[in-house]
Amino acid sequence: MKNFKLTRRDALKATGASLAASAALTSGCSEAPKSVSGPKSINGVMPWSNWAGNQVCYPAERMRPRNEEALVSLLRESSGKIRAVGAGHSFSALVPTDETMLSMARFRGVKDINYETKEVTVGAGTRLAALGDALAVEGLGMINMPDVNTQSLAGAIATSTHGTGQKFGSLSHYVTGLTLVTAAGDVLKCSALENKDVFDAARCNIGSLGIITDVTLQVRDNYYLKERSEMLPLEEAFEKMEKMRLAKQHFEAYGLPHSNHVLVIEFSEVS
Ligand SMILES: Cc1cc2nc3c(=O)[nH]c(=O)nc-3n(C[C@H](O)[C@H](O)[C@H](O)COP(=O)(O)OP(=O)(O)OC[C@H]3O[C@@H](n4cnc5c(N)ncnc54)[C@H](O)[C@@H]3O)c2cc1C
Repeated sequence: MKNFKLTRRDALKATGASLAASAALTSGCSEAPKSVSGPKSINGVMPWSNWAGNQVCYPAERMRPRNEEALVSLLRESSGKIRAVGAGHSFSALVPTDETMLSMARFRGVKDINYETKEVTVGAGTRLAALGDALAVEGLGMINMPDVNTQSLAGAIATSTHGTGQKFGSLSHYVTGLTLVTAAGDVLKCSALENKDVFDAARCNIGSLGIITDVTLQVRDNYYLKERSEMLPLEEAFEKMEKMRLAKQHFEAYGLPHSNHVLVIEFSEVS
C-alpha cells in the first residue's frame, strides 16, 4: 500500500463536496489522488475557481475598487450584473459569474475602535486571520471563530458563518453596524437604529443585496483557548457526544468515513 499525504482540502472535498479526492478515500487510501489540472483559460479569459475547486467561472471583467468613491462610480456606471468575491471559500455557487466579479480585497484593516463598547469597524475585505492579529495588538479578540480563519469578513457574514459552542451566535450575530453600497450606488449606513431592515437582511445576504464596504463588530477582551482533541470509537462517541456538547465551551466532532472513529475536539477558555 502506497502512502500519501491527505491534505485538509482533500479531506473536506471527500467528505463535504464529494469531489475527486473521495475516490482515493473510499478505496481505502490505496493510491494517491490523481493530480487534477486546474481549469484553463478560454479565449484569453482567465478562469476563477473557489477554494475547493468545485465552482469555476469565466468572468468577463474583474474589478478591485480602491476605495468607496471608486466603488460608487463603478456601480453607478455599470449596467450588467456584478458578483462580489471574498476569499472564495464558499462551496456553493455564490460567487460564479460570467459578467463582472468584484473583489473588495483593497478594503482591509481596522478603521476604528471603540474601547468603551468594544466595537471595531473593519474593512469588508479583511481576512479573519488579519483581524485576529490586529485585535490582539489592542488587547481584544473576536467572540467566536469558524473552523478556519482565511475567509474575508464580508464573505463570512454573507453566509452567516458560524463557529461552535451552544452559547455563541454566528459571526453575523456580533455585527452591530455596516456600510452597504446598493446597486444604484447609494451608500447606506445600517444598524439596529438606522436602515434596520437592510441591516437585518445584510447579515446573511449571500451576496445579493449590494456591496458591503465595512463592518462594525462586537468584540471582547483578548483571551486564550486550550484545545483538546481525542479520537473515539464510533459507539463511545455517540454515547459521550451530547454530554460533551453541553459541558464544553466549544465542541465539534468529525466522523471519519470507513474508520469507525470520530475525532472530537473541544476548546475551553484558560487564563
Ligand atoms: C476549509 C473551510 C472551512 C470552513 N469552515 C466553516 C465553519 O467553520 N463554519 C461555517 O459556517 N462555514 C465554514 N466554511 C464556509 C465559509 O465560511 C463561507 O463559505 C464563507 O462565506 C466564505 O467566506 P469568503 O470570504 O471566502 O466568501 P466568498 O465565498 O468569496 O463569498 C461568499 C458570499 O459573500 C459575498 N460577498 C463577499 N464579499 C462581499 C462584500 N464585500 N459585500 C457583499 N457581499 C460579499 C459573495 O458574493 C458570496 O455571495 C468553511 C469553508 C471552507 C472552505
